[in-house]
Amino acid sequence: MYDIAIIGAGPAGSTLARLLAAKYRVLLVEKRNLLAAEQTAAGSKCCGGLLAPDAQKVLGMMSLALPQEVIVGPQIFVVRTIDLQQDCERYYQRFYINLDRAKFDGWLFSLIPPAVDVRLAAFCKSIQQVDSHFVLDILQQGKHFRERARVVIGADGAGSMVRKQFFPVDKKLVVYSAVQEWFSVPEASPYFSVFFDSRLTDFYGWSIPKEDSLLVGAALIPRQQTLERYKELKSKLAAYGYPLQRAQKKEGALIVRPRHAPRLTALPPGIALIGEAAGWISPSSAEGFSYAFRSALAAAKALEQGLDGFVPRYQKETAALRLNICLKNLKLPFMYQPWLRKAVMASGLAAVKVIGQET
Ligand SMILES: Cc1cc2nc3c(=O)[nH]c(=O)nc-3n(C[C@H](O)[C@H](O)[C@H](O)COP(=O)(O)OP(=O)(O)OC[C@H]3O[C@@H](n4cnc5c(N)ncnc54)[C@H](O)[C@@H]3O)c2cc1C
Repeated sequence: MYDIAIIGAGPAGSTLARLLAAKYRVLLVEKRNLLAAEQTAAGSKCCGGLLAPDAQKVLGMMSLALPQEVIVGPQIFVVRTIDLQQDCERYYQRFYINLDRAKFDGWLFSLIPPAVDVRLAAFCKSIQQVDSHFVLDILQQGKHFRERARVVIGADGAGSMVRKQFFPVDKKLVVYSAVQEWFSVPEASPYFSVFFDSRLTDFYGWSIPKEDSLLVGAALIPRQQTLERYKELKSKLAAYGYPLQRAQKKEGALIVRPRHAPRLTALPPGIALIGEAAGWISPSSAEGFSYAFRSALAAAKALEQGLDGFVPRYQKETAALRLNICLKNLKLPFMYQPWLRKAVMASGLAAVKVIGQET
């Protein structure tokens, strides 16, 4: 019997497994083969791979420094913000680090001490509560395995099976469909761009240079002509001069947008969610790494004092994170309400004047 089973070895799950290894018998179950992904980028999560200052800060708090091989070019200093609907644009200074997402996940995974039992390419199909513990049904290489644990932590991302199985439906946790393509480009753009157009989505689209590719994507309202709207975005971007001829790869993922702080209490008391599974992600920018790390740190702190009653302690440890989500929600109208956004952009507040691109 394991003390703790963690489902998902993304940034949240790998961080929690690393932090709990010394104190508990931990099982980590991950459906991807992260060792292969590290070398070939196969099975990498669809992501922009930008490490924001908040995430850099938490890495610093955990005494972690990024290895060189995780970083990719170009490093970007301004974000080009285009309102396609109202035909205006501005540039703003930003301090992201451009990452190879597959290598980033592989690096975080490599920090997990050997004391943690890891099952890779293993899909956790379902979880049953039996007396005071949980039984996990795991599918690996076509075979079913059962593992038992006293506590289960769902770190299984936006489409979380653990959330669906154990947490009441939360209508304010909206799940978007993200579509992203990789285009080969003759030269790297010096900007990360974001695109707003409420006729296509009430969230946003983006383009991110990554070595000799340009990633173009959008977070779209699910089941509302997602692919048609993505195509429309691309034709608008082509008209703006974005070179979108040769797509090398198309990928997709779900992306959570929490309209209030996540609800953390489930019916069986020994179960909790961390990272995007819980809804820990910025509703304004979809920055998720800092939230994955911070929620893993909060869960580790709550579990330090024992397994019993850890959920209320986790709830307490995430007070600042919950306030953060509420504040980000207050910021939304200034980014997503077309007339307010236009006013903010027209004011030129905090904008950078890019030489040769003055508007
Ligand atoms: C298109 C897109 C672009 C993004 N760009 C950025 C960005 O530039 N910067 C940023 O900070 N954030 C970005 N995000 C958000 C960020 O990717 C997530 O918030 C972050 O990865 C959350 O980490 P996590 O560990 O909670 O979940 P995930 O990274 O999603 O990890 C969940 C893990 O669980 C595994 N899993 C799922 N179900 C099971 C199961 N049943 N059994 C076993 N394993 C399972 C998955 O394989 C995965 O490895 C982006 C998201 C999307 C969709």
